[in-house]
Amino acid sequence: MKYGGVVDELARRGLAELHTHLGGSVDPAVMWTLAHEQGIALPVKDYWDFEQLVSVDPRGVEGLPQLDAIYKWTELIQSSPLAVERSVHGAIGGAYRKQNITTLELRFNPMKRNRGGERDLDHIIMAAARGLDRASLEYPQVRAGLILMMDRTFTRAQNEVIVEKAIRYRSRGVVGIDIAGPRPAPGRYAYGELEPLIETAREAGLGVTIHVGEEGGPDGIAELGEVIEQLRPDRIGHGILAAQDDETMRLLREAGIVLEICPSSNLLTRALPDEEAVRDTCRTFADRGVLFTIATDGPEMMQTHLQDELALLLRVGALTEAEARAANERGHEATFLARRLVAA
Ligand SMILES: [Zn+2]
Repeated sequence: MKYGGVVDELARRGLAELHTHLGGSVDPAVMWTLAHEQGIALPVKDYWDFEQLVSVDPRGVEGLPQLDAIYKWTELIQSSPLAVERSVHGAIGGAYRKQNITTLELRFNPMKRNRGGERDLDHIIMAAARGLDRASLEYPQVRAGLILMMDRTFTRAQNEVIVEKAIRYRSRGVVGIDIAGPRPAPGRYAYGELEPLIETAREAGLGVTIHVGEEGGPDGIAELGEVIEQLRPDRIGHGILAAQDDETMRLLREAGIVLEICPSSNLLTRALPDEEAVRDTCRTFADRGVLFTIATDGPEMMQTHLQDELALLLRVGALTEAEARAANERGHEATFLARRLVAA
């Protein structure tokens, strides 16, 4: 234990991580081996180059398109049943061994891992379930589940298939749905059109979290309002733009929506300019009673750990010790896993 104080105390009790992407959660050494086992051509001369290829430079990237370019590589390497199984297994085991994460939700888009339809989607998802099962045997202390992600660049029909699969594999460890990815056109993404899909998922007992309000200025704030009112998610990935708008914070508070805040990720993608902005954002939410939990977005790709995130927030005065404890506790409570255990 190297962090000291409340961070060590929370780690001893067990941490909760609800926002981490499979493409950013697997040790590069495992990804390197998986790439070689599958004979994937990589634009690197050695392992050290590869580490840089699949992680964000500590100085950050220019924005989300550059982050997506890194994901392209990890998604390609994870585009087979074998690789998905080993990645899920590795991500859960790694989270427990390195951070004592005992509540973990791992999200991924299965349709970005089937080589454009060449690999069967059911094989990909069942492989993830096997990885989950194997990790559960090795680390019974961890409650872990999968979130299937839709994508903003996908057609309605494609996203419908993902929701259909999430429902079908609910009994095998899929606990929720999400949507992410770049906007297909400049301006606002019409989140409201997803309403029937989200409703179907909700009725089937799945949790709903939506990537929104991470960046995008006034359009991003408008999207947040649309998501809160029309999609009524349980949680929101990022949602940091809400701190700039009283009305949006009121909506979040009234709906009891929990934000999944990923401080280092926001700094690395320049969604937040500096640590002061991180502090102001978290302070605003804490002071206005907006619920949130802390996450990494992908510890390996972001080269951070959940304990680093908590240490950062305490160091810059974004959270008090009591608020850090509450944020971790909220993670254990706001997980879709609990719902699965009750509803299953
Ligand atoms: Zn994310």
